[in-house]
Amino acid sequence: MRMGHINAQVVVAGGGVAGCAAAIAAARLGCDTVLVDRFGFLGGMFTGGNMVVLNSPPTAGIGREIMAALEATGDARRCPDDPPNYPIFHYRSEYSTMNVVYDAEAAKLVLHRMVRAAGVRLLLHSFITGALAERDTVRGIVVANKSGQQIVEGQLVIDATADADVAASAGAAFRKGQTEQGILFAMTMLVRLSHVHWPSISEYSTTDPGLDRAIAAAIERGELPYYKPRARAMTNYWGHPRPELSHLVYDDEALLWGGTVEGVDGTDVADLTRAEGEAREQLMSELAFLRKHIPGFKKAKIEASSVSIGVRDTRHVIGVSTLTGADILERRSFPDEVAFNMKGGVPVNGIPYGCLVPQATEGLLVAGNCISVIPGSTSMGSQLGSFNNLKDIPSMWTTGEAAGTAAALAVEAAVSPRNLDVQALRGQLFKQGAMFTPERVRELEAVQLPSGRTIRQYYDDELTSMKDHWRRLGAWK
Ligand SMILES: Cc1cc2nc3c(=O)[nH]c(=O)nc-3n(C[C@H](O)[C@H](O)[C@H](O)COP(=O)(O)OP(=O)(O)OC[C@H]3O[C@@H](n4cnc5c(N)ncnc54)[C@H](O)[C@@H]3O)c2cc1C
Repeated sequence: MRMGHINAQVVVAGGGVAGCAAAIAAARLGCDTVLVDRFGFLGGMFTGGNMVVLNSPPTAGIGREIMAALEATGDARRCPDDPPNYPIFHYRSEYSTMNVVYDAEAAKLVLHRMVRAAGVRLLLHSFITGALAERDTVRGIVVANKSGQQIVEGQLVIDATADADVAASAGAAFRKGQTEQGILFAMTMLVRLSHVHWPSISEYSTTDPGLDRAIAAAIERGELPYYKPRARAMTNYWGHPRPELSHLVYDDEALLWGGTVEGVDGTDVADLTRAEGEAREQLMSELAFLRKHIPGFKKAKIEASSVSIGVRDTRHVIGVSTLTGADILERRSFPDEVAFNMKGGVPVNGIPYGCLVPQATEGLLVAGNCISVIPGSTSMGSQLGSFNNLKDIPSMWTTGEAAGTAAALAVEAAVSPRNLDVQALRGQLFKQGAMFTPERVRELEAVQLPSGRTIRQYYDDELTSMKDHWRRLGAWK
């Protein structure tokens, strides 16, 4: 078979959250950049994945630009009306009052326009089947699509596939999961419902025992066959023992975390196939339960299920640096930090450049979910899923922008990413508005939550309680 051939300076593999930011950043710096995705739209989990509520508003860089473009057309808004203590809500912490919700369809177009405006060449509908590599150096990727197969060659490749597909194919070292034990988070199918009557839900939802009783009775009757109790001590991401929802941008819409499958690996096609079926069974039983028993859902229908089951976590490339749970708990900054773990709009801790650079593979940077982090330890219990993971979309945007900028500077200087002048990279990121000055961090941390606590106090309290939790488990000294 004859292979097509495409040449570029920077090849970005995966057009999701991190990949779009990476491609925009590289192209804006004048690099001939190709962005490849298996789907016919951009955004990954941010759009087709239905992860359409951000619990942390992006406050810097390309992430902020994306959300500003959506806000400008009324397609995104703050959702301060989520009362934090309603049991039916997915986000029950105080900082959920900072949630930002948006229209996924508008977001697809915003990304498309931004990417094109930056001068990125797009290759959609193209599945990346592997890396083009010579010994330890990645030279490009191989894709399959309706036109056949093509080699997309570049001076540098950024792996933003979330699963490190390119890096793994090139033989780069990786570990799986965000814990030392390699346990993977559960997969969940995110579903947008329409025809939901929120005033009725809100009224009903103030009575936690009411919801608990309805769920218990439905389980008893066999109407919720997949439900498991949510145990505080569960180690990987818990299932959803009750229907968990969030407001969305339109008044009659809700996001339903609708079907959670544990013990599956997103890099195993048999697991993925099984999880799709199981999650759909779950979510339909949940919807039937909601329609029948919970006020506000009588007319609810599925507007869109995610384009593919949501895979929270698989491979992490082992990088020159690795971010750990201790780095997060201690809110560490690094002299070479180029990206951030963002919570509630605040950069909680830095992410060193070395987390984006594979330990031994050349010609490759990683961005997004597959960067080098190991923030958890299985003994952390449920806290791992709620707070101490490193995968929020605003954080992932910062890793993408850093990787794209690094790629452009490395191409320009004709150096390997590992030999890049990190201070020059940081300088460029400051210029782009992607880094935070200490004054800006103080300003962001001073934002007040409904209780009167500042977001800074909120995080200090959260981190203290998490350290206590770990201490009790003997996992923190
Ligand atoms: C169920 C679930 C719940 C979540 N909850 C939250 C939350 O509450 N708040 C929050 O901020 N974040 C949440 N996240 C996390 C967030 O969605 C991810 O961390 C983020 O999307 C990661 O960005 P990414 O660019 O690495 O991956 P993605 O956004 O998944 O993008 C990866 C892209 O690569 C493409 N791709 C992958 N492999 C290939 C291939 N072989 N060939 C071609 N293209 C390929 C995909 O099509 C996709 O477009 C959740 C994720 C899941 C799954």
